[in-house]
Amino acid sequence: MIRIEHLVKNYGSNCALDDVSFAVEAGEIVGLLGPNGAGKSTAMNILTGYLSSTAGKAMIDGVDILSDPLRAKKMIGYLPEQPPLYLDMTVWEYLNFCYDLKGCRLDRQSHLREICDTVRLGEVSGRLIRHLSKGYRQRVGIAQAMVGDPKVMIFDEPTVGLDPKQIIEVRNLIRGLGKTHTVILSTHLLSEVQAVCDRIVIINKGRIVADEKTERIANVVSGSRRFRAKICGPQAMVLDALQKMPGVAKAEALPERDGDAVVYAVETEQGLDIRKKLFYLLSERGWALVGLESSGVNLEDIFISVVDSSEQETAKRAPRAARKTRRGKETAEETLGAALYEDADRRRKEAAAGKSDEE
Ligand code: ADP
Repeated sequence: MIRIEHLVKNYGSNCALDDVSFAVEAGEIVGLLGPNGAGKSTAMNILTGYLSSTAGKAMIDGVDILSDPLRAKKMIGYLPEQPPLYLDMTVWEYLNFCYDLKGCRLDRQSHLREICDTVRLGEVSGRLIRHLSKGYRQRVGIAQAMVGDPKVMIFDEPTVGLDPKQIIEVRNLIRGLGKTHTVILSTHLLSEVQAVCDRIVIINKGRIVADEKTERIANVVSGSRRFRAKICGPQAMVLDALQKMPGVAKAEALPERDGDAVVYAVETEQGLDIRKKLFYLLSERGWALVGLESSGVNLEDIFISVVDSSEQETAKRAPRAARKTRRGKETAEETLGAALYEDADRRRKEAAAGKSDEE
């Protein structure tokens, strides 16, 4: 339903999107996750036709957003981070205004009533938007995105500034919309993607660093796994055996007890599953294993690990200068940025060559 291919966006000499490709199938809710400045809004703005790209394609149901923006935009409902609300209109006037703006052909009354029912705006539809709380205003923003019944819904940081109750309401709304729509949700909140999305695409410094189903996101890091093991036996000896066990990176006794069992936190090395070996080791020594539970890898660990490793990789490469493209549409600023970068690169290479000549 949504296809982004080799998308590049340069702001002058700064590359905000660096060869980004991903697809979202019909009916999927995908979370675009990344730290501030990662390039999420830029991707959303290109996808919704607000910004042009330096290179690459963005397609909605096979329609190129750049070459046929009107057709593509009819299929998109967009809630920007700051919803474009007219505060002096009532909710009902505003939705009618959006209806006209979008050239919607559905039955006006029943379509707008249905939207108001879905987002529970019915009782405030006659009130001025100015007098609504932030939570209600966000619902109005979602309602305007729903006008015209678009197949694709795009939400940029939809819960920023809301209180916990409003956050839950908006998330439930988005999850509900996801049953009948294809949804992209941009957020820097890990809990949000975990609560709402089927799939997570992590973006950092303009590049995709992970793309995985929410329940399998832990697979993107082949890092360590953590367990809590409840073991009956002499604490010092058990701990020593755990620490010496092949595949164990770290083991420590926790202050918790379960009857006469001590609780140990055990961390394994890269991607190893030590559970069976642990069981046999303990049974050989005559120490009872009365509980073993995985603490798993939490989303926060994954996020930090993925972002960190992408940063190390970027540091190894040249600085994030504007990516050159063959479209020939670069601005003078972009051309200058690229020329400066090339010049610096050439001088670096010459210096390196000079150094090896001397050797
Ligand atoms: P995010 O939405 O993930 O916070 P953005 O897409 O807003 O990230 O920004 C990505 C990068 O592009 C950042 O380095 C940001 O400073 C830069 N950027 C965004 N908008 C502009 C702009 N209009 N002009 C220049 N640089 C911009």
